[in-house]
Amino acid sequence: MTQRFAILGHPVAHSKSPQIHAAFARAAGIDLTYERVEPPLDGFAVTVARLRAEGFRGANVTLPFKVDAFRLCTQRTRRAEQAESVNTLEFTAQGIEGDTTDGIGLVRDVEGRCGRKIAGLRVLLVGAGGAARGVAGPLLDAAPARLAIANRTLARALDIVQLYSEASQLSALTLGELPQHQFDLVINATSASLSDALPLVPPSVFASGALAYDMVYGKGQTPFLQLAASAGAQTSDGLGMLVEQAAEAFHHWHGVRPETAPVFRLLRSESPA
Ligand code: NAP
Repeated sequence: MTQRFAILGHPVAHSKSPQIHAAFARAAGIDLTYERVEPPLDGFAVTVARLRAEGFRGANVTLPFKVDAFRLCTQRTRRAEQAESVNTLEFTAQGIEGDTTDGIGLVRDVEGRCGRKIAGLRVLLVGAGGAARGVAGPLLDAAPARLAIANRTLARALDIVQLYSEASQLSALTLGELPQHQFDLVINATSASLSDALPLVPPSVFASGALAYDMVYGKGQTPFLQLAASAGAQTSDGLGMLVEQAAEAFHHWHGVRPETAPVFRLLRSESPA
């Protein structure tokens, strides 16, 4: 029987998830449909109830519903509990299971495609919204020498640090403190690139040979990546993270780990960095 899945977001028209999951399913010989659904901003729970009633097996969740999804779940993975965010729902007879795959998606892309083992690196996460919250735990699990979170609004960075109070390598910084520090991996987890803006990151934060990673994709060379390249850093956008987080969700639902490189190449050919 055809299994039904959806991506829930508002807006959702731009989402590449249907294309990614269709490609994974073709390769794995799994019969499924995967469609875009745009719940009203105040209608996430009602929409999920409708999908369950219609026999959907699960859904991915994107902006701005990841916290709503977290609250709606009756069971959550440890990493979803840590991040207080859910991007993968599975509907079962018992209720709704929730997982978050953004963090592992980022770590796999940085360590795999970008070829940087995170263990022992000095890592800077710029931004403290939902995306930063989702990736902090998996980044810590990858054993960096240090993980600093810098955000325009310091209180939000401090909130994330508090979630992992046992992690001595974790700290919060103001953007103003950044000129005093250098990092081997600098991740832009702000939404600044979506509006072609640059978070106030000085070029001096990039240590020699650093990797600069912008979670945003489909925007070409963002101001952040341009700054990093001019400071001599290697650069990557977030397209690989998108494909890897989808692969982890696919594994969650189907127990099959899809090959990500062909799908990444296909999407990259449509959306050059
Ligand atoms: P969010 O919850 O709205 O958080 C936005 C963050 O950006 C906040 O920390 C905010 O700072 C900061 N910010 C916004 N404009 C800024 C500016 N001009 N200068 C400095 N900081 C600025 O968004 P999110 O869910 O965390 O998503 C962040 C980005 O990650 C989005 O662009 C999203 O597309 C991307 N993302 C990519 C993937 C992927 O698979 N590649 C997955 C998830 C998310 P304040 O706290 O001070 O407001």
